[in-house]
Amino acid sequence: MTARTADRAARVDRAMAGMSEAGVRLVALSWVDNAGIGRVKAVPLGRLPRLAVHGVGMSPVFDTFLVDDSTARTGGFGGPVGDLLLLPDPDRLTVLAAQPGWAWAPADRYGQDGEPYPGCHRSFVHRMVGAAAGLGLSLRMGFETEWSVGPGGPGDGPAYGLARLADSGAYLLDVVDALTAQGVDVLQIHPEYEPGQFEVSTAAEDPLGAADTAVLVRHTVRTVSHAHGLRASFAPLPEPTGIGNGGHVHLSLWRGEQNLMHGGTGPRGMTPEGEAFLAGVLRSLPALTAVGCPSPASYLRLAPSTWAGVYRCWGWENREAALRFVTGPVGEAAERANAEVKCFDQAANPYLVAGSVIAAGLAGYEDALRLPAEFTDDPARADPGELQRRGIVRLPAALADAVRHLKGSVVLRKAMGDHLFDALLAVREAEDGLFAGRSRAETVEATRRRY
Ligand code: GLU
Ligand code: MG
Repeated sequence: MTARTADRAARVDRAMAGMSEAGVRLVALSWVDNAGIGRVKAVPLGRLPRLAVHGVGMSPVFDTFLVDDSTARTGGFGGPVGDLLLLPDPDRLTVLAAQPGWAWAPADRYGQDGEPYPGCHRSFVHRMVGAAAGLGLSLRMGFETEWSVGPGGPGDGPAYGLARLADSGAYLLDVVDALTAQGVDVLQIHPEYEPGQFEVSTAAEDPLGAADTAVLVRHTVRTVSHAHGLRASFAPLPEPTGIGNGGHVHLSLWRGEQNLMHGGTGPRGMTPEGEAFLAGVLRSLPALTAVGCPSPASYLRLAPSTWAGVYRCWGWENREAALRFVTGPVGEAAERANAEVKCFDQAANPYLVAGSVIAAGLAGYEDALRLPAEFTDDPARADPGELQRRGIVRLPAALADAVRHLKGSVVLRKAMGDHLFDALLAVREAEDGLFAGRSRAETVEATRRRY
């Protein structure tokens, strides 16, 4: 046994404690693919100690899966031959509170030679966190989860309406109880803008933990919804009209105990280091759009004046800026100052989002970039001449546009590595082709039950 497998064996032993007492009999091992779909293999609990070290087989073909389960036709990836290993992360083994008898763990993908697979999304985040650590930096991140159970169900009523709790209160309580029992730190939950639309946000954590939590939160909401006779959709636009579901991500950059988004001489109290990181994110936003808004359906959601942040600018508490800066309330600002990327949605693979945002930010950090002046209004209502003078543009308005930016991104190619980057590109281009010529209603229909 190598030191690494011995370490995994010890970690899984610790994680197994209490599992059978909790009634767990099956463990779901999940990963998220380049189409943003969570996929799973399940194993009996008793096999976990062995599998956590030696892995469960799964085909590499999933690298080419599209949202409709067809595959991108590309010579380089997928095909029927070959096998990878899923290795569950023992440190994240969680009893599923709303799915009795089950536990869940996110899995890393390895080759049969025991080496990390270059297409593994969790390893990508791990590498980016390591790159930050090499500069003495760390990150805190948190994803917001919005979902819709459709009009006519519970939570029908005015936007953010108190009245909507009358028939959705018990449902939301079950969501929060399940998340809390699973160790997820819930910050808030509320009825969103549309009838039957809700949002839950969770506390910031390390980037890999935040991406894992996003997967767990979504699965938990889905499961609790099912128990209430509801079907939750996390699609960018679950109904052809109205406001969509965002997948905003909050982030802050730290050096040791110091939040670099606070207490500095830069704009809105950022430190120069924090500013450079955010400027790097802003610089790469058009390419990041292909990662964070990866579906043709994403571009149906990205409308101005809907708090989806479709303009490439930043601003203090500006919900129409793609990058909203949050200084945090007096007394807690040193802890809570952060930036929110608002344009992303939940068709995105959260691991790709976390890793790519870090890569873009670190590139800005290394180039010591400065932010442009902040924008403090809704750009859609501003004088177009002023936007032009200030270089404030719309983010890509179609997937093909975003993919073009992604293709040209040296920063993201280098960070992901050729294998992951090319597989992602292949899937994005194939999905663009798949939806070509479809109407808005057809695109919504084809995606609302997939995410
Ligand atoms: N639902 C909006 C979106 O698609 C976001 C609303 C909010 O800011 O919470 O991003
Ligand atoms: Mg919201």
